[in-house]
Amino acid sequence: DQVDATNGKRVLLAKPRGYCAGVDRAVVTVEKALETYGPPVYVRKEIVHNRHVVDSLRERGAIFVDEADEVPEGALVVFSAHGVSPAVHEQASERNLRTIDATCPLVTKVHQEAKRFAREDYDILLIGHEGHEEVEGTAGEAPEHIQLVDGPEDVDKVSVRDPSKVIWLSQTTLSVDETMDRVDQLRERFPALQSPPSDDICYATQNRQVAVKAMAAECDLVLVVGSQNSSNSKRLVEVALQAGSKASHLIDFAKEIDEEWLTDVVTVGVTSGASVPDILVMDVLAWLAERGWAEVQEVTTANEKIAFALPRELRRDLPKTG
Ligand code: SF4
Repeated sequence: DQVDATNGKRVLLAKPRGYCAGVDRAVVTVEKALETYGPPVYVRKEIVHNRHVVDSLRERGAIFVDEADEVPEGALVVFSAHGVSPAVHEQASERNLRTIDATCPLVTKVHQEAKRFAREDYDILLIGHEGHEEVEGTAGEAPEHIQLVDGPEDVDKVSVRDPSKVIWLSQTTLSVDETMDRVDQLRERFPALQSPPSDDICYATQNRQVAVKAMAAECDLVLVVGSQNSSNSKRLVEVALQAGSKASHLIDFAKEIDEEWLTDVVTVGVTSGASVPDILVMDVLAWLAERGWAEVQEVTTANEKIAFALPRELRRDLPKTG
């Protein structure tokens, strides 16, 4: 019968997954900027780390550049969700650019912490991935006070002026468990190390990790939809493996799934990073259904209601509604 035909094949679908409030706001910002001012709208860096999102906005007239000096004098530029350093704001104002800052408010919060503790003359140990745009932006707020701690090997490399005045901050999209390991390690060297006043790893990153953890042990394979340059998506693969999934892969699109990954697999977990529109997840579910994984059970660990207002400089120019 039918049940035997599917051999118990099922999909566990993590919730929450996909778009967070900061990504949604950044993408809508570029869409509204295109509608309101017309193309081209320049965007410094990928607005969010997702290929599909970037390609669709490019088709609609967004021009992605690496640095503000690639934007013609006086043009409009949107800063991405990951945040920018004060040097980038200066560069933009030197070129008379009109700017809309789509930095996620939760990244801005970490910038504020960096500024505050630098003002109070702390040594700040910033846990994060070297070269990631968010880390470059945050470190740029107080380069003289901030040292980056990426891997475990960096813990021995940092040097502080006064061990009683040290605080750690972090990138918003790290693995919660790994970050706490790094903090423990740092605290062995600096017992008086202080913690940030509130979590730097954002609610969306944490919630997506909790959801994947809840189902990973039951999964033979966890597919994470997300791009290679998306920090929080890559962390979901690691968390899935640590939490007991036999295998896990990061894919941008359903067509990247390798049929061989499904050999001897019964339960497939599916989730997606914070920059991933759900349509890409639906494509993966359709792909799986065609191959016998039609039964989908959602595993819900939280309901997210958070939303952020659009950047002020854009709201000002939007048609009034209501
Ligand atoms: Fe903001 Fe977190 Fe989303 Fe990054 S992952 S944009 S910090 S809500």
